Amino acid sequence: MTEIKLPKGAAAILDVLEARGHQAYVVGGCVRDSLLSLEPKDWDVCTSAVPQEIESYFKEERIIPTGLRHGTVTLLLDDGPYEVTTFRKDGAYSDNRRPDSVSFVADIREDLARRDFTINAMAYHPKEGLIDPFGGEKDLQKRLLTCVGHADTRFNEDALRIMRALRFASVYGFQISEETAAAIDKNYPLLRKIAAERIYAELRQTLLGSGVLKVLLAFSAVFTAVIPELAPCAGFPEKSGGRTHTLYDRAARGVAAYPGDDPAVKLALLLHDVGKPLCRSGDHAQKSRELAEQAADRLRLDHETKAAMLELILYHEDDVEPSVKSVRQWLARIGYRQLLRLTDFRIADSLAYGTESNSEIAKQKTIRQIADQIIAQGLCFSLKDLAISGRDLLARGWTEGKEIGRALQEVLDLVIEGSLPNERKALLAHLEKQKRRRRL
Ligand code: ATP
Ligand code: MG
Repeated sequence: MTEIKLPKGAAAILDVLEARGHQAYVVGGCVRDSLLSLEPKDWDVCTSAVPQEIESYFKEERIIPTGLRHGTVTLLLDDGPYEVTTFRKDGAYSDNRRPDSVSFVADIREDLARRDFTINAMAYHPKEGLIDPFGGEKDLQKRLLTCVGHADTRFNEDALRIMRALRFASVYGFQISEETAAAIDKNYPLLRKIAAERIYAELRQTLLGSGVLKVLLAFSAVFTAVIPELAPCAGFPEKSGGRTHTLYDRAARGVAAYPGDDPAVKLALLLHDVGKPLCRSGDHAQKSRELAEQAADRLRLDHETKAAMLELILYHEDDVEPSVKSVRQWLARIGYRQLLRLTDFRIADSLAYGTESNSEIAKQKTIRQIADQIIAQGLCFSLKDLAISGRDLLARGWTEGKEIGRALQEVLDLVIEGSLPNERKALLAHLEKQKRRRRL
């Protein structure tokens, strides 16, 4: 019999509910991840008890009424929060998003039937073992993602499941079954009814998954539907590494070639060329940035990820040289963290190109080493690191505002170039000299 070790809190919840004559199981993602020998993110419990009953049994604990109408309460136990949900089935779905109503049921199997994929539709009890009416365990072994029931109906009920399917396929490196894939291809236009932040939450995880390349290539129609800015790239051929790819394929390879987990780098790799099909010649970075900003706003990206991604796109073609002078200039312009992201971007992008990647990778690694040395030596690279500040100039009778800003920037550039030492006396002497010269 399959055995899953439950955390203390989950085991205690099952015990309390059973002592009151109810059925109770751990269910969903935690069962799936345990069978895959992964650490579950959270443990959900499902039970025949209704919310009022659950609340009355756990009076001593802190309880959050998460979604009473849907039968969910959250118990805050010592080892973490647990969502406890009454067995339920969903009513009709008329908006392709959520059920019009839900009703509580007595049978765990009915509850499992409303869940999206076979691998998510398993429950477990320490005495009964695995409850797996839809063959989820077998599908985990086959590494296959497939809907519970009729895929076309399931995506029609709730189109977000399409994004969830791509997420699970990418994160676990699973195949999507033929019927489920066909239903995705048919139903993805319904995604327009789904809130952008829910789509982005799934997209973000999809991009970080190890199976992302296959998913991006097999379901380009879905990705270009949720990010229409990408659509022209899918039909835009470009020669690279002796082969012809579309810009979309190359972007997908870049996304897959970046091994880190920073969504800003993943998104920049996906979107950095969206302006290219619109710019026949010359610089497309600005156009790409503009379109990527539009996509970011639509998908409701958080501010930090958006800003970092847009800056990477803006500078994705600019050359950072593996020299102290150039690296200092770039540190002053975009900061340490972004410079590291830019080197990650370049390495992944050159791997996607398949040309001269070894020398490019070596160059980017050198840039990182130089940046680390500059940081370690405490060499100046931004206004706040200068040995003088605006206050010093104010005290010497300079006028507030633009004049001071310009003067500080000027000495910063000279320090970065290495033509002035970052020393108070030297900087002030230089500026006084400049000022006198301007007056003459
Ligand atoms: P994660 O590890 O990301 O938490 P998860 O499978 O636990 O993955 P949740 O969103 O926490 O995902 O959902 C818990 C369970 O609820 C799922 O395993 C699945 O059984 C069910 N579920 C979640 N969303 C849907 C949906 N849109 N349609 C049907 N069932 C769903
Ligand atoms: Mg979960």
